[in-house]
Amino acid sequence: MTVRHDHWIGGRATEPVSGAYLPTLDPATRRPGDEIAAGSQADVERSVAAAAAAWPEWARRSGAERSEVLHRIADAIEDGADELRELERACTGKLPGQLRTEIDMSAAYFRYYAGVLRAHHGRTIDQGGRNHTYTRLEPYGVIAAITPWNLPLNQACRALAPALAAGNAVVAKPSELTSTSTLCLARLASAAGLPDGLLNVVTGTGPEAGTPLAAHPAVRRITFTGSVPTGRHLARIAADRLVPMTLELGGKSPIVVFADADLDRAVAAAVAAVATNAGQVCSATTRLLVESPAHDEVVAAVVEAVERLRPGVDFGPIITEAQFRKVLDHFADAAAAGVLPVTGGSAYDDGPAAQGQYVRPTVYAAVPPDLRIAREEIFGPVLVTMPFADEAEALALANDTDYGLVAGVWSGDVGRGLRLAERIDAGQVAVNGGALTIETPFGGFKSSGYGREKGIEALHEYAQIKTISLSL
Ligand code: NAD
Repeated sequence: MTVRHDHWIGGRATEPVSGAYLPTLDPATRRPGDEIAAGSQADVERSVAAAAAAWPEWARRSGAERSEVLHRIADAIEDGADELRELERACTGKLPGQLRTEIDMSAAYFRYYAGVLRAHHGRTIDQGGRNHTYTRLEPYGVIAAITPWNLPLNQACRALAPALAAGNAVVAKPSELTSTSTLCLARLASAAGLPDGLLNVVTGTGPEAGTPLAAHPAVRRITFTGSVPTGRHLARIAADRLVPMTLELGGKSPIVVFADADLDRAVAAAVAAVATNAGQVCSATTRLLVESPAHDEVVAAVVEAVERLRPGVDFGPIITEAQFRKVLDHFADAAAAGVLPVTGGSAYDDGPAAQGQYVRPTVYAAVPPDLRIAREEIFGPVLVTMPFADEAEALALANDTDYGLVAGVWSGDVGRGLRLAERIDAGQVAVNGGALTIETPFGGFKSSGYGREKGIEALHEYAQIKTISLSL
């Protein structure tokens, strides 16, 4: 029997005003799954009203009190992990290991901001003894959080945890393809003691639910994770309304490998970019730039490793039908330009993988940098490689993109690794596999967006500074 999921508004499941529901699909089998409420302007009105009523009391609580509630939400995510993983699996086809990582990290966001918020304060400003002047970090009020389908709960928690920590209320609009885990989170958070109205979830399509939410006059800040075209559309709305926004958009990130690098580890990193979530990760380093003497050896090792990856075991399906078609379209386009992959380049046409939206891990070697597959974000298990002659060419190729989300650099010469890291236009650069974690601020340069999630920086994003000065 099909399960229907209603919105979560003001601390309770709430039927859509339209009475309409949208289908979801299991991409591993293409079978229909649960239905979600088709949200519209009327549902947005109700959820924003609930959030507007709830945040002032929450904002007046001490950081210690809010921290306590956030810890309980983290506990609730951990206790409810089985249910969250199953909901997420049903609409994404993700593998167990990937699901475990994403749900654990969802809880960790709440744990981290529960701690950080207790050390997040304004400051006093010494003006020579004539005044008592200090700053306060005040919430915006109602935050709209519009999130994508590739890491559904994880991306939601990345935004919700710091927004709530800073004293705001949130109306979340998850992707219509993957809404159920965010709805479940809201229910778990309520049961854990989050006051009604602080976390509302309106489901539905972008145009029907997302646009009215971003445009609502009571929404004071927008955080968006998703594609560049949608980000641009929402940024126009934010500009008209003069509300600030965080934009976490796409990438076409480089991984630069010098011949003196630990090539085994560099190859493993390149393979992970293909396998992890089948390449549907905004930060996937899918442009493999290799110093010429090592290029063929590295490509051969990558090809050998990706050919061993098994669908449904080592990598999952493409989450949406439209995205699946888009990846295949990239292959057709490259073929039309006379460029064929060294491996992959098609969907599975036999075995269980043919039932689902599985694309073969694909490598295009030594591609011209102006080719579409070398420039556009594909969001599938697809790697392109390019050889480079020296450090200057490596830097030029790495920066030859409209995006600037992440980069990887691999070199036995640490000085060169850091030199390049400082010159690559990207929000974060990992040298020799350096770790990017919840503690490290995350965000884009160039068309990959603006604002920062994660780290203490995200807490700054969700608080506005007020200066108060008293004449003595
Ligand atoms: P998308 O832009 O299609 O959708 C994202 C969200 O925006 C969804 O909730 C969707 O319903 C909503 N939306 C779509 N059209 C809208 C409209 N007209 N008005 C209001 N809301 C609208 O993106 P997607 O396809 O779900 O996600 C994939 C993209 O997200 C990729 O480009 C990827 O790189 C990016 N992404 C970025 C990060 C990051 O942190 N930088 C993380 C994950 C994904």
